[in-house]
Amino acid sequence: MHRVWAEIDTSAVRHNLGVVRQRVGGSKTMAVLKANAYGHGAVEMAKLLVGEGIDAIGVGDSGEALELRDAGITAPILIVGGIIPGEMPRVVENDIEVNLHTVQMATELNAEAEKQQHVVRVHLKVDTGMGRLGMQPFEAVPFLHNLRRLRNLELVGMCTHFSLPYERNPSFTTRQIEHFNLAVEVAERLGYSGLTLHSSSSLAVFEREDANFNMVRTGIALWGLLPGDLHGHADALKPVLQLKSRILFLKDVPEGTPIGYSRTWYAPAPTRIATLPVGYNDGFRTSLSNRAEVLVRGVRCPVVGRVSMDYATIDIGLVPDADVGDEVTLIGRDGEEKITLAEHAHWADAIPYEVLCGLGRRVARVYT
Ligand SMILES: *Cc1c(COP(=O)(O)O)cnc(C)c1O
Repeated sequence: MHRVWAEIDTSAVRHNLGVVRQRVGGSKTMAVLKANAYGHGAVEMAKLLVGEGIDAIGVGDSGEALELRDAGITAPILIVGGIIPGEMPRVVENDIEVNLHTVQMATELNAEAEKQQHVVRVHLKVDTGMGRLGMQPFEAVPFLHNLRRLRNLELVGMCTHFSLPYERNPSFTTRQIEHFNLAVEVAERLGYSGLTLHSSSSLAVFEREDANFNMVRTGIALWGLLPGDLHGHADALKPVLQLKSRILFLKDVPEGTPIGYSRTWYAPAPTRIATLPVGYNDGFRTSLSNRAEVLVRGVRCPVVGRVSMDYATIDIGLVPDADVGDEVTLIGRDGEEKITLAEHAHWADAIPYEVLCGLGRRVARVYT
């Protein structure tokens, strides 16, 4: 029996993948499973998605890639950001694809690949306005010239990343697409063909059909969410994760009783307080203190007092029949009521991605 757990609806993941695929038509789909598949469990999600015929998997670093290889995942794996030189031996050894940003990086990776007598599949990352990683479009020319001499690297793709979903200016995205197209044209003129071109993350899949190219990289949509979605596209997706706990302790308190560290809440009237075995170590943040709600027997109950490392306290004055051991829904549905991930994230002063990635190690993952 778990004290705090994430219930993960695998049929919803399949459904969401289906929605994405329908949206992108003939383009391939990469499932981005970085950050432990946004808290959903990278190995379990990789197995499920490979079973659904996913074309590729994206991860954040070589450690995440290795975890999947060790679990027997043989699908193509791309580190979607960048690598540091110390990761190169592991990348080459485990047949991991990487994005290249500089000639120096390419040269170093080629040397490592040569040492291991291996050919590494690489993608050229172009910075079209995100400003975080990748080379400028005009740098692609010298880079691609140089690349020809690096016999142990095979260029298999080119990519860029949009400042979506938090960029709301469609013309900026249009410019990003144009700049990416310029870089692609350069590569084609230099004789590169058959490249996998990819730029869209989840929101762009739904907002920018002109950016599908021949692969999309989707993370959050698989988990049923589209942050920044102004057009209701997310209605077609199903929520995947519910966060639950149980009542560990109950007590009736008189008016004026202080609750928790720093006494940030005093009972305004006699009521009943329930203590839940979930705290910020589990990803239930202190910013939720005196702000969030949870569901007990289908009734919204406020979090009162400061959330601590292992515990949170709620006022269950409205649910007199609640008992120790009762299930409590922190994110998800209980009866007619539901607390969405977006609502929870709003209370937490976080973006939904952060809430998912922030689920702690102690939170059991239960797959249904
Ligand atoms: C995380 C990430 C994605 C996936 O983004 P979502 O919004 O979760 O779909 C795609 N591409 C890159 C480079 C990323 O870092």
